[in-house]
Amino acid sequence: MSNLETDPAEAVCGGAVAVAPAHELLPGREVVIGPRNLLVNRTLPNRGRRMVGAWCFFDHFGPDDTTAGDGMRVAPHPHTGLQTVTWLVDGEVLHRDSIGSEQLIRPGQLNVMTAGHGIAHSEESPALRSPILHGVQLWVALPGGGVRAAPAFDHHAELPVLDVDGVTVRVMTGDLGGTASPARAYSPLVGAELTLRPDAVATLPLRPDFEYAVQTLSGVATVDGVVLEPGALLYLGSDRTALPVSATEPARVLLLGGEPFAEEIVMWWNFVARSHDEIVAARDEWMAGADRFGAVHGYAGDRLPAPPLPGTRLKPRGRTR
Ligand code: MN
Repeated sequence: MSNLETDPAEAVCGGAVAVAPAHELLPGREVVIGPRNLLVNRTLPNRGRRMVGAWCFFDHFGPDDTTAGDGMRVAPHPHTGLQTVTWLVDGEVLHRDSIGSEQLIRPGQLNVMTAGHGIAHSEESPALRSPILHGVQLWVALPGGGVRAAPAFDHHAELPVLDVDGVTVRVMTGDLGGTASPARAYSPLVGAELTLRPDAVATLPLRPDFEYAVQTLSGVATVDGVVLEPGALLYLGSDRTALPVSATEPARVLLLGGEPFAEEIVMWWNFVARSHDEIVAARDEWMAGADRFGAVHGYAGDRLPAPPLPGTRLKPRGRTR
């Protein structure tokens, strides 16, 4: 996934550490991805709340019928300082990157791409595909300046599953209640998909030092007493040891959490960095076709050019506004 806004706003992250439970309903906004009008609902970064742990970007796409059009067509584009985390509810996406990976992902599987100093990738619906495309792409900011990790791509065909009173928990990244994902992670965090069966009533274990948020992907769920439909992210704050979840109909919910991210970051277009100058350098190197990002082979189309930089200097900022 790429941030394809023609004039992306500077997203500012980092800052004061959350210390209490909360209920903040953060509405998403519609953003067009790619030249063929794939609409996504973006809940992170959000006005007033830029990050949840190291999670700094949350796009929910679909469910969309892809039989008439091309489905997803995100041309080669670069990333720095982050990991992309792709998870599908329905359909398939073909990933290609500049370190030679080519991987089809299906529902229940996980793709994690670590950009580190720099990588490029494309994402598209394969020619032979299921009709419906539905999923999420999340970004995780890398700590310690963000660029020390070597570029990497990992596909996890199976993930550990926890069953709690009518709720199937698939741990995508990090650890929930002692069930740990094998996915590469660079800061204490968790990402998990909750599949709620009708009339599920369960309590999930949380860590008081993490902050958490939940978002419904399908159906309607009740989380800590809040009825949650798709479209908004419910920020839950921290200082919690348990999370009540229930549903009267089948529902799917994504749970994100992590240690509040202490570093200030600059997020612009597809780059996470620590300063304006790092962003300018990354943009210049992408536009010049420098070795830093390599080349994506096999995508039928041109690479994406970076949008123009804003007229003012980008400032590193805290995780809340
Ligand atoms: Mn991308």
